[in-house]
Amino acid sequence: MPLRPIMLTRPPVEIMLDDGFWDELIEGGFREVCVSWMAFLNEVENGEPLPSHEEARPRVLSFFEDKGDQFEYVPIIKPDESLYDGLNLSPPTRSDEFDPNFGELRDAFQRASAKGINLYLFDDKSYFEISGYPAGPEGARGFSCWNDPQVAKYLVARTRDYVNQLPMFSGIVLDGPDNKWEIAPGARDDLFAENCVCDHCQSAARSMGLDLMKLIDALAAFKLEMQQLNDEKVEGFLLNTRGFLGAADWWLSHPELLDLLRFRYRTIEDHMKREYEGIKRHLPEFTVMASSRTPSYVALTGHALSRRSAYADYQLPKLYLWAGNQPGFRYTVSNYANTIAEWNPSLSRENVVALTERILGIEFPADYPVEKFDDPATSSFYEQVAGDEMRKMIHLTGDVDKLIPFIALEHFGGPQIQPQEVRDLLRTLENSGISRYIFFHYGVITDDVWNVLTEFSK
Ligand SMILES: [Zn+2]
Repeated sequence: MPLRPIMLTRPPVEIMLDDGFWDELIEGGFREVCVSWMAFLNEVENGEPLPSHEEARPRVLSFFEDKGDQFEYVPIIKPDESLYDGLNLSPPTRSDEFDPNFGELRDAFQRASAKGINLYLFDDKSYFEISGYPAGPEGARGFSCWNDPQVAKYLVARTRDYVNQLPMFSGIVLDGPDNKWEIAPGARDDLFAENCVCDHCQSAARSMGLDLMKLIDALAAFKLEMQQLNDEKVEGFLLNTRGFLGAADWWLSHPELLDLLRFRYRTIEDHMKREYEGIKRHLPEFTVMASSRTPSYVALTGHALSRRSAYADYQLPKLYLWAGNQPGFRYTVSNYANTIAEWNPSLSRENVVALTERILGIEFPADYPVEKFDDPATSSFYEQVAGDEMRKMIHLTGDVDKLIPFIALEHFGGPQIQPQEVRDLLRTLENSGISRYIFFHYGVITDDVWNVLTEFSK
């Protein structure tokens, strides 16, 4: 059975005005498109230099050929202010000058829909000026964190605004939010840094009978514990946690960490429910899809894959497997091993590796140990490690037909996974029984990668 992929796009949306864009996707087996960063590109001085160096798709590169090299993003829609009444967050706006551009794009979306393409929105957290969706606690632009109920209400209003103006869109991909899961100091997603302690977070904790500041103190104490390991402690831990029941003693002697996980699960779930139920109340037929991290460390982010079917129609865990840069799986796993080693120089390499495997629930293949993670990954990595992530997510979500993992080559200009690795990944996906994936993103696809993707979708 061929895979049925979704293509995620980024600007320039202007390439979508040419029907050749949609025909190319249909020819390649992509019949679903998720449009992220709903913005026109406007040439300006002192704007963002584009195209970025990772852009590779000929259609994208040719768009930039006869233009300047700096651009600003202009929101596609002008907001219907009445939808945001009573909210203390207001959407980005634009001048009437772009009304004809909007009309042209709307017609192009309509033609794509008539060709049989399903179109989805993307909530673009952290890119407020571009799409108008709200960011998480680290996001600027005056938005508070997801525990502020206004954030979900605003997201629902924004989604209705898009759907009213672009009714051919039949669903949305919610991206996160995620609590952090990294342990390397300075990493973007360092779980020990910058935990939100706003009033909304504190009152959410109080409603569970918890003191948020105590939970954060416990996290700091746990970090210290991770910095005071020795071979005797690690070997004893590995021996005692070999069985499922053996871990109970460790967790019961760290009750605040257990409470912190409960707090993360509850607050993410409350936020996701507010979004899901709010959208469904106004748009009952609208498809709501929700991303997450991969099962190995999803618990730290607060997403319970086993419970999300109550507030997501489809689950989109990120099978982001690259090394060298956030938020790739091999980058994170290497960070765990390297950070444990740096914090505990006396620890044997064997114990560093065994502890990393135990914490994350993974097993390194003999021909591809964690030390090699910066080299292109072997087939054994995809079959065993990535395959296990897929099998875990199938079990946790309980319905393989509701799983659409995210796949990407890299983020933020780090080293890309190679076309041969993409082939190994898609072959493992196919063998796992998962039939769909979402590819991030169209612009970075070289001809070699395109050939691999289309090989599996036709
Ligand atoms: Zn907060």
